[in-house]
Formats: sequence, C-alpha cells, structure tokens
Amino acid sequence: MQISKHVFRALALGMVSMGLVMGAAFPGFVMGFGIPKSTALTPTFITATLIAGLVVGGLNFALASRIVRPRLKQLTARMQQVRTAMQQATFSGDWSACNPSVCRLDEHDEDELGAVAQSYNSLLYALHEAHMVEGQIREFTKTLSSKLDLHELGDQALTMLQANARAQGGAIVLERQGEWTVLASRGLSHPEQILQSQAFIANQGQAVQNRITLPPGVTVDAILSRFVPADVLLTPIKNHGLVLGWVILASASPFAEDVPRLLPLLMQGLGLALNNALLHDDLQRVAALDPLTGIYNRRFGFKRLEEELNRADRNHTPLAVLMLDLDHFKRVNDTYGHLSGDKVLIRFANLCRESLREGDVLLRYGGEEFVVVLPGAGLQDARDVAERIRFAIGQSKINIGDQALQVTSSIGIAATSGQKPITAEDLVAQADMRLYMAKATGRNKVVAEGSPDSKIDITSQSARN
Ligand code: GH3
Ligand code: MG
Ligand code: MG
Repeated sequence: MQISKHVFRALALGMVSMGLVMGAAFPGFVMGFGIPKSTALTPTFITATLIAGLVVGGLNFALASRIVRPRLKQLTARMQQVRTAMQQATFSGDWSACNPSVCRLDEHDEDELGAVAQSYNSLLYALHEAHMVEGQIREFTKTLSSKLDLHELGDQALTMLQANARAQGGAIVLERQGEWTVLASRGLSHPEQILQSQAFIANQGQAVQNRITLPPGVTVDAILSRFVPADVLLTPIKNHGLVLGWVILASASPFAEDVPRLLPLLMQGLGLALNNALLHDDLQRVAALDPLTGIYNRRFGFKRLEEELNRADRNHTPLAVLMLDLDHFKRVNDTYGHLSGDKVLIRFANLCRESLREGDVLLRYGGEEFVVVLPGAGLQDARDVAERIRFAIGQSKINIGDQALQVTSSIGIAATSGQKPITAEDLVAQADMRLYMAKATGRNKVVAEGSPDSKIDITSQSARN
C-alpha cells in the first residue's frame, strides 16, 4: 500500500491533467469538423468539454487503480510476508515457511506485473538456493571440523561429498612427504591406479577443478554392476592456496550443473579440517616414533603391544614377542664411533622391518634393544621369524667408510600360552630373560624356551664371537 501510494498519486495527476488538456483542446478539434466558432468557443461548451475531460481522466484513473492496485497489493503483501518469514527463519533455523513452493507468486499475466512476479519468483529461488548451499557448507564444515583423526575425516568427508554431488564413486587422495596416497575411497575399484594416470598427473600443476577420464582399470562398483563413469570431477583441496590433495567424484550420468560450483565451496572447509588433521597426525607420529630409526618408540610401542594382547585374548588367538639385542654393540661404538653405531642401529631396524608382515609391530625398546610383536604367531612361527631376522642381520654388510661391518644379534622369544592371560610386562620380561640366556650361552642365537634355572633350548647354533 505504502509502496504504491506515490505511483497512484502520479497516475491520478497524470490522468486528470490529460483529461483537462483534452477538454481544453476539444473545442479547437470540433471546429476542424466544421462546428462554427460561435458554438465551439462559448464558455458553456468549453466548461462542458473541460468537465468531460476531467471525468474521463478520473474514470481512467479509477479503472487503472481498480485493476492494478489489488495486484500490486498482493505483490507487496507477499513480499512482506516472505521478509517476515525470512527474519524469523534466520533466528529459528526453520526455513520451511520460506520455501519457494509456499511463497511464490502466480505468473499468469504476460504484462509488466507478470514480469515483476516472475522476477520476484526468480529472486526467491535464488535466495532459497543460496540458503540451501550455505546450509550444506555449514553442515559439512561443522561435521568435519570436529574430526582430528585423518582417516575418519577422509571417510566422513567422502561420504558427505558423494551425497551432495550424487556420485556413485569417489576417492580422496593426499600428498604426504612427496608421495601420493589414497586417504579414502568408496565405490571405486583400484583407486590407487588414478595416482599414476596421465590425467591425474597432468592436472597437478594447475590446481584447479577439472573433468578427467579414469584409467581403464578403475571402474565404479555399483551394487549389481560395474561401470565406467560418464562424468568424473577432480577438485583440489586447498588450504591457504596450497594443494593438500584432491577429491575425485565419479558418476554414472553427467553431474548436475550446480555440482562443479558447489564442490570448491565445500573444499574450503575440507582444506581447513584436513590441515588440522594432518598436523595432528604429524604430532602423533612424532610422539609415537623413535627419531633415529623411525620405528615406534618404547612408550607407544608398548601401548600397541597391550592392544594386540587384548585383542588376542578376546579372539583366543596366539601372540608372540621377540626381544632383540645386538651383540657386542659397545665394541662397534668404541671402534667406529657413535655415529657409525647409529648407522648400524638404523640398518638393524630396517632389516627387522623388512622381515616382518603387515600387522606385526616393531619398537625400539632401549638403546640397541628392539621388541617385535607378532599377533597371531605361535612359538614355532615366532622362531621362524626370529631366525629369519638373525640370519638377515648376520649376513648384512654395513659400510662404514671403506670397511664392511658385520654384526650379529641375540633374540629371546615369549608366546602366550592360550590358557591363562599374561600382561605385556610379563611377556616382555619373559622374552628378555630368554634373550639374557641367549647372551649367556654364546650370543648370535635364538632362545624360545626355558628359564635360567631350567635346561636351555637353543634353536640355533651359537656362533663364535
Ligand atoms: P651384548 O652382546 O652383551 O649385548 O654387548 P653390548 O656391547 O651390546 O652390550 P649392551 O647391550 O649393554 O650395550 C648397549 C650399548 O649400546 C651401550 C651404548 O653405548 C649403545 N647405545 C645405546 N643407544 C645407542 C644409540 O642410540 N646409538 C649408539 N650409537 N649407541 C647406542
Ligand atoms: Mg647388546
Ligand atoms: Mg643392550
């Protein structure tokens, strides 16, 4: 009502003035048709034409206002209604009253008012879309910001991204210490092949979103079928302009138009969360690893041993530990220096690591003492592993300057009995005691049974050293 007041005032003025002008011009106009001057220019005729012009102007205005005003009123009332609903929704969070299907105007007429209704509806849809996108971003960022565990974050982010993009397959890949790895993947066969693909490598220098083709070996695994995706989007995950990784989303049909625009917005939250999780992961690594050898330190390794022991207990599966110690290591330090000794320790740790399976745990227990945890291994398996390590170390030549150094090791073994539970401390103490027995009986050997006062079972031949 307030909005249209000025328009109608101007309309009334215009119409009435027009009526007056027409009324004033009418006598002259009728004279053109042969009406004599004495009739057309009399005060009565002029007054009559002026009044007629005024009435026509007034009627025009009334008619226009009767047709236009209700529609304008409806328009303004709706706009005000939506404005109020939006104000309330901003604070309540409930946007159902601002849904375009509820608030839109009819667009029946093809005149300017119809066009106004159309523009209003488009604005409403745009506002609604902006609000929905904002909601998606907020929800995405909020969910991810609480995740510090890198793998949990990757899985959660991928689930949400796939849902938002309606993608059947996807992966998140990361670069860490110069190496690309798959952090999370779902619905894709062999996602690691993407990392070697030409399309992926070619995009790395550009750091912008792109459409790619997956290498032939990578397909989308749907519930009943396996297919080559029709559309694959590669979107960089950046933090402060630095690319931390990429999101790959694959779909059976081309992605909806809004998906490529939405993804970079979601990436802002993911970049931040990923950066936090990477820092957290780095800190945890630093806290868990021995700086010299890069294997678990005693504190963290012991925690892992306790976890594995609990698991073995729960699942009634065997577990064994090896305690390893280099023979006459003091001599190495004394003869070749501490730095050379360090080199030997690094080599020793690497040789151990190479002799183990995934799932086995290697930790540096003390100076040159190492512990290996073998989940699922009985005494015989543990003996085999210990012999393999002892052999590998004994055979290895470590270059110190122009000399090739050879060292040997002694190993004590303890395994769970499967009958009564044993603590991590007791298990390690038992292995330590058998290591002591190996040392006491000549070194470079594996001892898997017995206690100091019982007969010693020596499973490998003592080497003279
Ligand atoms: P044994 O055969 O009885 O084990 O004799 P050993 O000389 O190896 O004796 P021991 O195991 O007691 O020696 C431990 C030595 O390891 C003493 C110490 O100087 C050395 N050591 C401990 N930590 C480090 C390290 O980080 N770097 C180096 N280079 N040496 C270390
Ligand atoms: Mg030693
Ligand atoms: Mg020692």
